[in-house]
Parts: sequence; structure tokens; C-alpha cells
Amino acid sequence: IAKRLEGKTIVITGASSGIGRSCAFEFARTQPDNLRLILTARRIDTLRDVAAKIRELVGTGVQILPFQLDVSNPDEVGSFVSNLPEEWRDIDILVNNAGLVKGVAKAPEIAEEDIDIMFKTNVTGLINMTQAILPIFKKRADGGAGDIINIGSIAGREPYAGGSIYCATKAAVRSFTDSLRKELVSTRIRIMEVDPGQVETEFSVVRFYGDKAKADAVYAGVDPLTPDDIAEVVVFVAGRRENVVVADTLIYPNHQA
Ligand code: NDP
Repeated sequence: IAKRLEGKTIVITGASSGIGRSCAFEFARTQPDNLRLILTARRIDTLRDVAAKIRELVGTGVQILPFQLDVSNPDEVGSFVSNLPEEWRDIDILVNNAGLVKGVAKAPEIAEEDIDIMFKTNVTGLINMTQAILPIFKKRADGGAGDIINIGSIAGREPYAGGSIYCATKAAVRSFTDSLRKELVSTRIRIMEVDPGQVETEFSVVRFYGDKAKADAVYAGVDPLTPDDIAEVVVFVAGRRENVVVADTLIYPNHQA
């Protein structure tokens, strides 16, 4: 893995927390030299803290650029690459991780603004990021090279009651990922998806609009995955030799399988 990732520039969306944050640590831990990490999310101060903690852990061999980016804002995503310092623009890997769920409610009762933010973040944001980065990949020799790793969800495969919109967004991610992989077949651009089951992160706190007690109750009596469990798989997938496309991975905690 270390050899494959050497010299790469990696963008992670939603790197301020949970799975995205763990991916940043795992890439840095695996490749402590000659790696560039562009960590993006809305909370820039939190991203700076993440960057400082990674530097504490692995030293200064890994270069880190914390970058404020709201993926649900198409203008910000559209100007993302041109707003990067020039030496950071030659991106090799995009981890499309930013995402959220809002509320638990039957379909007719879901608030319009919650529907809107879930689709704008989980679907349109991911598509816009992909469109922003693909031209960089396509400029490379022989039809292009680069990796996109989309974080989907078990919810995109096994819809559950009370989560219709979130499940629909993750099913959309799945379809988009599969179509794009087929469009880019025989190039060196790999389009891959990692689908977590239940992971303990800030995800449930966001779902319940900041109500920590409700969020904690979700994990009571079960043994969820940790964000590191997912990050290890993401880095494994990125670290395969070029001809190996780990197209689709589903990771459950044992109680959920
Ligand atoms: P967290 O809430 O811990 O992390 C979500 C990340 O997304 C945060 O860094 C947040 O940063 C970022 N984010 C949210 N909205 C935006 C936005 N508009 N623009 C940019 N960044 C944004 O949750 P997880 O780590 O669990 O979630 C990561 C991914 O994993 C999501 O796509 C989620 O759907 C998926 N997933 C999670 C599961 C779980 O059980 N936890 C299960 C299956 C899939 P900030 O607020 O700073 O912008």
C-alpha cells in the first residue's frame, strides 16, 4: 500500500469527523512520506485540529491542506480546484465521503428542508465533486488515471422504514457509481464504492438534530463498527495495484449481518 500511495494527492470530503477523519489518519499512517492530503468539510477549525493531530502522529512528511468546502454548494464545488494552490491541483484520489441523514420519519411526514439537504449533500454534492475532479484524471496518459471512492451505505441496498429519503440518496450513489464505472471501463480511472453498516460517529447526532441522548440510544446494547474499521478498507481499496478494481464492498458489524 505504501508504495502505491507514494506521492499521491488525496482529497477527502467530510474529513472533520467520523469516517472521513479516520480515512485521513489511515492514509497518513500508511504513507507517512511524500503524501498530500486535502481535508475538506464545512468546519474549518475542526479540520485544522485534525491536521495538527495527524502531524503530531506522523510528523511533517505528510503535507496537509485543510480546506473549507460545502459540497452542497455547487458554486463552491465548481471553483474548488481552481481555488487550490497550484501545487495541490494534481489530484490522484477523491474520497467522496461527506454525507448526512436528517430525522427518522415516515415518508409523507419528512420535512421539505430535510429532503433537500440530504439530496444536495449525499447525491448532488457527490456528483458535483466527481465532475470537478474527473477532468484532472482524464488529462493523464492513455485515457486517464485516478481513483474515486464513494462512501455509500447498507441503506442503499436494504432500505428501512423511517429512512426513505436517506436510503434513496444512497441508492442513487450506488447507481451513479456503477454507471460511471462502466463509462470509464478500460481506462485507469477506478470508480469504487465502500458501503458501511452501522458505524458510531457523529452521524446519529446529526440525524437527531444534535440530541446526544437519542443518538447514544442508537448504539446501546450493540457493538457498532468504528470509523477506523471503514478507513482501513478505504485505504486498502486505494492501495491495490492499478488493474485491480475493488468495485463494491459492504462492511457490517456482526450484529447487523
Ligand atoms: P459524521 O457525521 O461523523 O461525518 C460526516 C462528515 O460529513 C462530517 O465531516 C461533516 O463535516 C461532513 N459534511 C456534512 N455535510 C457536509 C457538506 N454539506 N459539505 C461538506 N461536508 C459535509 O458521519 P459519518 O462519518 O458516519 O458519515 C460519513 C459517511 O458515511 C456519510 O456519507 C454517511 O452517509 C456514510 N455512512 C455512515 C454510516 C454510519 O452508521 N455512521 C453508515 C453508512 C454510511 P462538516 O459538518 O464539518 O461539514
